[in-house]
Amino acid sequence: MTSEQLFYDKKPAFDRADPEAVRTYAEGYKAFLDRSKTERDAVKEMVARAEQAGFVSYHRGQQLKPGDRIYQVNRAKGITLAVIGEKSLAEGVHLTAAHLDAPRIDIRTLPLYEAENMAFFKTHYYGGIKKYQWPAIPLELRGVVCVCENGEIRKVEVSIGADPADPKLVITDLLPHLASEQMQKKMTEGFKGEGLNILVGSRPAEGKDEKEPVKLAVMRWLNEKYGMKEVDFLSADLSCVPAFNACDIGLDRTFIGGYGHDDRCCSYPAATALMELEGTPSSTCVCLLVDKEEIGSDGVTGMQSRHFDTFMGDLCRAEGVLLDECFENSVCLSADVCNAFDPNYPDVSEKRNDGRVNCGFALVKYTGSRGKSGTSEAAAELMARVRTIFDREGVAWQTAQLGRVDQGGGGTVAMFLANRNIDTVDAGVPVLSMHAPFEVISKLDLYMAFRGFSAFYRA
Ligand code: MN
Ligand code: MN
Repeated sequence: MTSEQLFYDKKPAFDRADPEAVRTYAEGYKAFLDRSKTERDAVKEMVARAEQAGFVSYHRGQQLKPGDRIYQVNRAKGITLAVIGEKSLAEGVHLTAAHLDAPRIDIRTLPLYEAENMAFFKTHYYGGIKKYQWPAIPLELRGVVCVCENGEIRKVEVSIGADPADPKLVITDLLPHLASEQMQKKMTEGFKGEGLNILVGSRPAEGKDEKEPVKLAVMRWLNEKYGMKEVDFLSADLSCVPAFNACDIGLDRTFIGGYGHDDRCCSYPAATALMELEGTPSSTCVCLLVDKEEIGSDGVTGMQSRHFDTFMGDLCRAEGVLLDECFENSVCLSADVCNAFDPNYPDVSEKRNDGRVNCGFALVKYTGSRGKSGTSEAAAELMARVRTIFDREGVAWQTAQLGRVDQGGGGTVAMFLANRNIDTVDAGVPVLSMHAPFEVISKLDLYMAFRGFSAFYRA
């Protein structure tokens, strides 16, 4: 036999997809990304698209039949979509799981202060960021404030900076002329978490002898616009996210640059593949999109929450099936991004095994670090089953991992699904500059993820 017959060769898959289909799919994704800068925004966008695709909001006890399309929102920050299949839930479901949260700069519980005639917000960063990447870029403010007054609660949506006419916010950086001391520091120490303060204003309030007049003016502005007082920051989820939209990258437009590819570039194909599923699938197909992955998947909206079990338990009970039996026979593609081999930083990767741009949907047998700690690792049998599904439908896929042995590493939500006795394998889109405010993926890999999820649902 020849080397071509015997060797596994990871190579760009441009010849395996219709360029127009790849381009069109990327346009839809970019529009989604621009409207989904927080998990709350992403959920709203998903609901709108799901309803357009015939999905209805599910309530406990609702009668279901094969072909029905349902969704359930978890506290505005997560969403589960399902298409009911022909087979009993006792035979398991085809599950995809991804996350909608992304690293960012959260506004502190009591954020507003004045210093030297300027007003700032104190922040607490969310997720694994390199702090030096966040100063000196335009930021948007997004989220909700629950204004409490006379026993009444009023929820107000906050979105400042998305409209081109809106002002933006920023974290200032030090000028190089005075930064010689800063520049000598280790990169982890050049910027302190307590130094990531957001500039929000400078005009003092009118009226004499007011204390902190600039802070007062900002507070008056917020009060006028949202009806809030300083104490209402306590009941708010406010975040600063990059104030730029997704765009094509490269003279040949093969890449997409944007904020929050991790993990919306897996959430979007996992969800749209389900929405575009035609007819009634053999197995029930479920797409689970969660929050809080970037900080450990804890909490009511994270992957470790019992919310998913409750939803699946409701479906199972209606059929008289045990949830444990359903899980035991289910299979899950845990969809999260992996690192793309970057020739500018070759030392941290292992060429043979790391994901490569344009080589397709990446199957990751295990993540973790230090001797495979913190991973569920997909078994040989499961890897075989999944690659066979992809091959059958001509999906370009590749193997991937997270860097060299002992270089670092990381985890995904896979283990939390596997711990529930669900056969789970990691799969995702390779990313350049992961966790930066502006990440890069290949359009072809995104499209192949969509094709991979479609094949998996139909299998
Ligand atoms: Mn991720
Ligand atoms: Mn991440």
